[in-house]
Amino acid sequence: MTAPSPKQWIMDIAPYVPGKSRTDDGREVAKLSSNENPLGTSEAARAAFEAADRSLSRYPDAAAPELREAIARAYGLDPARVIYGTGSDEVLHLAAGAYAGPGDEVIFVRYGFAVYEIAARRVGATPVIAPDKDYATDVDAILSCVTERTRVVFIANPNNPTGTYASRDEIARLHAGLPADVMLVIDQAYAEYLSAEEDDGGLELAIGQPNVIITRTFSKIHGLAAERIGWGYGSAEAVAAMHRIRAPFNVTTAGQHAAIAALGATDFVEHSRAHNDRWLKWLAGEIAGMANHGVRAVPSRANFLLVLFEGAMSAEHAYKRLMHEGFIVRWLPGQKLPQALRISIGTEEETRGVAAALRKILGGED
Ligand SMILES: *Cc1c(COP(=O)(O)O)cnc(C)c1O
Repeated sequence: MTAPSPKQWIMDIAPYVPGKSRTDDGREVAKLSSNENPLGTSEAARAAFEAADRSLSRYPDAAAPELREAIARAYGLDPARVIYGTGSDEVLHLAAGAYAGPGDEVIFVRYGFAVYEIAARRVGATPVIAPDKDYATDVDAILSCVTERTRVVFIANPNNPTGTYASRDEIARLHAGLPADVMLVIDQAYAEYLSAEEDDGGLELAIGQPNVIITRTFSKIHGLAAERIGWGYGSAEAVAAMHRIRAPFNVTTAGQHAAIAALGATDFVEHSRAHNDRWLKWLAGEIAGMANHGVRAVPSRANFLLVLFEGAMSAEHAYKRLMHEGFIVRWLPGQKLPQALRISIGTEEETRGVAAALRKILGGED
């Protein structure tokens, strides 16, 4: 007897590996493995979450009109062209689902966000990996991967897990170099950590160009990761296509209320950005001081640092020792980065602590 067989393209997916929140021996320690906001959530978002209707028997509002309007108001957009998802992860899947299928190609960079490969394979499309330029996005490399089968290009800016950032000019050059029938998806999960001068122009492209979709999330700077709310913006046609395939009640009631309040909590966002700027620079400086051990950080504009272990100590060894010292960071062998650890910026205490632990480990003390 034969059993039903899952699609080969599904079995070709390497499962997503989430960041750990406890050590292997079950201790709760500083979690610097998932790029969450170390300052938590704004008071306003928490209050809105707590005040939201908690009747468990009612479906959420499937059209999320208030959430779409709040997003549109905050960014000067058309609410009808806002798509929302169970995290921006869902929106990335919707973009792949709407524009790619078997026989089509989906391009992303080597060391790009892990979800792009899953999203491409899930719909039976072929992932095409563009080479990096010392871990950063190489626009020319992406453009040289384009064929007549290319349907979607995914780019995260800043990128995760590298933290690297492509300038407005580079993004414009990428868009200008793509055929008009290729959808460029610009994943801006960390956009709020950038200064106004660093705006990559993605949202303007999504407003004016039919072949650009941007995605944003409430999980990172807004500190609402637990409620899983993301959104995207694209042409009316793109958004209509994505609505057809999203899960019908894909954002929770309390999450919608919290997200709306989070958009108004500009002081919290500003404070979180300033905290990140300060401690990202500080940690990068600390890592620069460890260069004699063959350790270096990739320049980052996100809320984490990718630290490369190119000397005697392996990233795996450092990962285990850091765990022992009470710090969970991300070791990424599954993303073909066995030589690297991704360390999220924590509170001041956590950030100072992880740097001191790393120094101690590299110095050979116990
Ligand atoms: C964290 C992250 C997301 C997804 O976040 P959601 O919680 O699904 O909204 C998307 N893209 C990148 C690059 C990320 O790092």
